[in-house]
Amino acid sequence: MLSVAQAQATILEATCPLPARATALTPAALGLVLGEDVVSDIDSPPHDKALMDGYAVRLADVPGGRGELEVIEEITAGHIPTRPLGPGQAARIMTGAPIPAGADVVVQVERTQPGEGNRVRIEDRPPRAGQNILTRGREMRPGQVVMPAGRVLHPQDFGVLATIGRVTPRLIPRPGVAILSTGDEVVEPSQVPGPGQIRNSNGPMLAAQAARAGALPRFLGIARDDVDELRAIVRQGLEDDVLVLSGGVSAGKLDLVPGVLQELGVEQHFHKVAMKPGKPAFFGTRERPDGKTLVFGLPGNPVSSFVCFELFVRPALRKFRGLADTGPRVVQATLAEDFPYRTDRPTYHPALLSPGPDGWKVQIVPWFGSPDLLGLTRGNALAVLPPGDHEHKVGERLPVIVLEEQGPGQK
Ligand code: AMP
Ligand code: MG
Repeated sequence: MLSVAQAQATILEATCPLPARATALTPAALGLVLGEDVVSDIDSPPHDKALMDGYAVRLADVPGGRGELEVIEEITAGHIPTRPLGPGQAARIMTGAPIPAGADVVVQVERTQPGEGNRVRIEDRPPRAGQNILTRGREMRPGQVVMPAGRVLHPQDFGVLATIGRVTPRLIPRPGVAILSTGDEVVEPSQVPGPGQIRNSNGPMLAAQAARAGALPRFLGIARDDVDELRAIVRQGLEDDVLVLSGGVSAGKLDLVPGVLQELGVEQHFHKVAMKPGKPAFFGTRERPDGKTLVFGLPGNPVSSFVCFELFVRPALRKFRGLADTGPRVVQATLAEDFPYRTDRPTYHPALLSPGPDGWKVQIVPWFGSPDLLGLTRGNALAVLPPGDHEHKVGERLPVIVLEEQGPGQK
């Protein structure tokens, strides 16, 4: 049986970043990846600019930082100086305004006193040439690459893109993820389950996981365990970048998903992975005229679906998005309490991870197996427990998968 690492490698191999496209610079683009090097079209600042409110003066007129000068004009941001400074002259200047010709220093207003009439007394420390002035093009020059392809957009990047007028940069879009629950027993969460029925917990959960991974979920509803119904809905899902099904992939009588997928031209890459929960996991691909659909069949037990999504679907979504770090994020943590445990496959056990003075600390939370979703909510992580009969003593170091770091758009 395939290992989790082999399964992840298979999935990443089958996944390519989506093609970048011109995208409006709105908050919805937060966390998207640049698909091109972005080049400045301007000098910034566009002129030598005052960094303080004060007086633009000539260094030669304030030896030792002192002098009394004639104020010839007032320059505010958005306006340009009307004349150069001559000897003995100063201009009142506001932050951001262009420096007049002849001036080579700005003296902060707090280091001046009003003089007689239109005169000002400078009482500064000995100034340096260029003091409180940002020279033209210091931040960026025309033609300069200000952001490389592959960069994840943070809020400050929006400011830079706006500075250079790139209001529709080429960005890698969020992948679309169709989500389909299957099972005769599964009813809408708004309904009261009848005998033998359960509510569809996986649909809303998987949609939220997709959103957290920065994808765009689209819920296809619940398909009965009926080949015709399943086929019709799966067909719709094959239009998206990713189709995630829950249920119907095990070896039971009504586990119809692998057969229907095969019939619709989905090429199987694996079916079954050495892991707990989640062993029956299925992965396949299908070519579309405009790309490729990845198909994940996740076992229906809610914690199996959850774990398989984090281990298999999320890395694919991150690769689609052009992110270099596909995750999942694994940290080494120190076990806080003894935890004897026997298992025949690597087990992803709900756990509570917390930062301690000596690094990460992990506590295994009570959990009753793959149907126990509430047990999963007691933790924020998955401890990775090796197969075999182990004592797992307090102080032992364990690999732990971090779950609760990112919202949509974040790194
Ligand atoms: P299956 O993988 O179809 O054999 O389902 C395994 C278990 O998961 C069964 O007990 C199902 O009732 C349950 N299950 C399947 N789909 C869902 C769902 N969408 N929400 C909650 N439980 C589910
Ligand atoms: Mg089923």
